[in-house]
Amino acid sequence: MKVLKFGGTSVGSAEKIAGLLHILDKQERQIIVLSAVSGTTNALVEIGQAFLNAQKKEGLEKTNVLKEKYIQLIQELFTTEEGLEQATQLIKHHFQHIEDLSLRPFGTNEEKVILAQGELLSTALFYYHLKEIGIESVLLPALDFMKTDENQEPILSYIEQNLGERLVQYPENKIFITQGYICRNNFGEIDNLRRGGSDYTASLIGAAIKAEEIQIWTDIDGMHNNDPRIVANTTPITHLSFNEAAELAYFGAKILHPQSVFPAQKHNIPVRLLNTGNPQGKGTTISGEMGEKGMIRAIAAKDNITAIHVHSTRMLMAYGFLRRVFEVFERYKTPIDMITTSEVAVSLTIDEISHLDKIVEELESFGSVSVDRDQTIVCVVGDFGGNTHGYAYRVLDAVKHLPLRMISYGGSDYNISLLLDSMHKVEALRSLHNRLF
Ligand code: ADP
Ligand code: ASP
Ligand code: MG
Repeated sequence: MKVLKFGGTSVGSAEKIAGLLHILDKQERQIIVLSAVSGTTNALVEIGQAFLNAQKKEGLEKTNVLKEKYIQLIQELFTTEEGLEQATQLIKHHFQHIEDLSLRPFGTNEEKVILAQGELLSTALFYYHLKEIGIESVLLPALDFMKTDENQEPILSYIEQNLGERLVQYPENKIFITQGYICRNNFGEIDNLRRGGSDYTASLIGAAIKAEEIQIWTDIDGMHNNDPRIVANTTPITHLSFNEAAELAYFGAKILHPQSVFPAQKHNIPVRLLNTGNPQGKGTTISGEMGEKGMIRAIAAKDNITAIHVHSTRMLMAYGFLRRVFEVFERYKTPIDMITTSEVAVSLTIDEISHLDKIVEELESFGSVSVDRDQTIVCVVGDFGGNTHGYAYRVLDAVKHLPLRMISYGGSDYNISLLLDSMHKVEALRSLHNRLF
């Protein structure tokens, strides 16, 4: 069985939704994971924020604008009276739900329910569309099987069991449709896998059903060797190892959700990144196969990084110091991305800053602490293991005109990371691209 995930732009219009049919193999059993129609989740974020900030009028206005967009879309997608009527009722129901939520005391739980409406809408519309044109499919509600634990980590065993139980009820069916991004948390409430999370859903489902392949369909021919939104002349990469793809996704390549490689990697399921606009294209295949040694594969950047520098003479010749520093981050469930140390100081980076004040307060008991915000990690990914040499030199030479805040090399065989002020990001990406490729 295969898993096919279609991103927001791939379901961005009636024409595109109808076009998906040409990509499916109607004779094969497959699970289709859909994102919300492009722009929808951004709009829902704004609506949720407006209600959270007690700006009810603005929130309702934005709700109405979004609803109009859907009314337009269904008029283009559905051709029968019955189909259009069904879709109209669906849209009324979901938008009424958003309005009803705004009448209640509004908190982050209500906000998450609002954020879930995009995927609920796109999947139901696709299901009705297939029905209208006479293609049978099964709509599997992700909220019935996609679940996270108290650390907001997906519970693969739960997904495996609950999705499996549902699939066996339909032994003859070929096309299953489900929502990306949304899930239930450990309290059973509606939650999500964070922005871009539909890729993660697809990978989790692929791992849960031991799929033969996971296809991520988007608006570009696979993973490029640099961010195509910033750098000109980027080129697609035909093959990446799981480790290389995981580094790129984690360090900012937007085409893949940061955590989406791991479930597939765990079960050795190939992931293919493909372009809905060019279905015949090669795209990128991510698998356990290692690429050529000593190759620089790609560059990515992760913004909104905060660097924390702890200076303490107590670190000199001492053991246990770093453990105590790390424990502070562990207590506040804050992941560390990069780390560099010297004899009397340690610098760390984080991107989750909701507990920054408390973390700094605790770290101050060890020594002096300084914080730099608006930093960017630029990550060069390739295979630098074994006896390869000269790569760090080439990377540093390409950015020698820029002030670097931290350098990390040797943590894995796959990446060289640099931290610099975000104002230098564009120049760093372009200069590295020109010098490395
Ligand atoms: P979807 O809605 O299908 O999930 P996304 O917008 O999340 O699509 O991801 C695809 C986009 O990621 C591309 O259009 C591209 O602009 C951006 N992107 C950033 N870095 C890369 C990269 N290294 N390779 C390919 N695309 C990238
Ligand atoms: N719709 C969600 C988002 O925009 C999830 C996704 O597209 O993957 O973040
Ligand atoms: Mg995405």
